[in-house]
Amino acid sequence: MASAGPVTLLLLGKFTYYNEGNDPLAQPSGRTIMMRHNNIPLGRILGIPIGLDYSWFLIFALLTWSLGGSYYPAEFKNWPPLLYWFMGAVTAIMLFVSVLLHELGHSVVALRFKIPVRSITLFIFGGVAQIAAEPPKAFAEFLIAIAGPFVSLLLAIFFYFVQPLVADVEPLLGLAKYLAYINLVVVLFNLIPGYPLDGGRVFRAIVWAITGNMRRATLIAANVGRFFAFLFIFTGVWQMLRGNIVGGLWIAFIGWFLENAASAQVQQVMFQGLLAGHRVSQAMRRHCAAVSADLTLQELVDEYILGGGQRCFLVQRGEHTIGMMTLHRIKEVARAEWATTRTDQVMLPLDQLKHVAPDTELWAALQKMDRDGVNQLPVIRDHQVIGMLSREDVIGFFRTVKELGT
Ligand SMILES: [Zn+2]
Repeated sequence: MASAGPVTLLLLGKFTYYNEGNDPLAQPSGRTIMMRHNNIPLGRILGIPIGLDYSWFLIFALLTWSLGGSYYPAEFKNWPPLLYWFMGAVTAIMLFVSVLLHELGHSVVALRFKIPVRSITLFIFGGVAQIAAEPPKAFAEFLIAIAGPFVSLLLAIFFYFVQPLVADVEPLLGLAKYLAYINLVVVLFNLIPGYPLDGGRVFRAIVWAITGNMRRATLIAANVGRFFAFLFIFTGVWQMLRGNIVGGLWIAFIGWFLENAASAQVQQVMFQGLLAGHRVSQAMRRHCAAVSADLTLQELVDEYILGGGQRCFLVQRGEHTIGMMTLHRIKEVARAEWATTRTDQVMLPLDQLKHVAPDTELWAALQKMDRDGVNQLPVIRDHQVIGMLSREDVIGFFRTVKELGT
């Protein structure tokens, strides 16, 4: 539909990115969490929190401008000026309702496989359903991935057949026509067989089923994803050179975003592969300074942190470890109170600590950090803290393994 013009280009950006949140290389302060925090809660559907990322307002404004300013005036000649803008805004909202239904499609199937869905966020490129874990088998992956485009296809069919029923009411006809078209675009775009698009997930599931090797399937799908991402970038640059600056920039931007996601996935697979079989006890630091519960924060900072360069502390009372102290906890106390505050008043008590066992797989430990939103975990055996494991420890261990090539 040629008259859609700039709107088409804008909406090529709709895509679904799920299974986010298991990128253990990202710190809790990184992109993953940011997106969770920079949003406006809209309520819950099926128990899943729905949020609106701030970037959504930009795409909403662009869509309303594009639809109300050029698409509708070109399609329908005799509307009052305000109606064009009103229908532009309504259409933009209905488009995102469609995107939300697409994400709910993925989510419902994930929930059927007992995989929790953390949230659904609407943002500049469409929607993201954050599904908490990798699907257990290729068939589950296939169904979860295909469910979104399937919902979009049903929406396209619905809005196609609704058109004759509303033919007398031009604004409704325009709305139905646009939604039929755009949901079809969403289906086609998402079926591109490169990760992180839905088609890439479907492709990965098929390769996974054939080879029985999930890691290899992920690597192949992610590399195909990178190929398509570069294709987008080149197309975008080519368009810009031909004078289509905004459209070209947008396509290139989408390509860049897809490339990032795909190469992060490639890195993650390599990382996971090198860590496989290695356990927490191999990477943890065994020597955490033991400090007395009566020590003040000032003494702790002067003697152990600035004096000794230590960063992890087990708080002892007599023979027993009763808690853990981190720099983060100290920073939460005003500096003026350091001299009068004891470590046991600020520490994380042992019984509340998230922890891992020494024989836990490193990969699993990283995923636990990710789920709990922490950067380090005490390693506990028989109620005794025997070490600490931080993300840096794992990355350091990873570098060593990689260097040795074992
Ligand atoms: Zn999707």
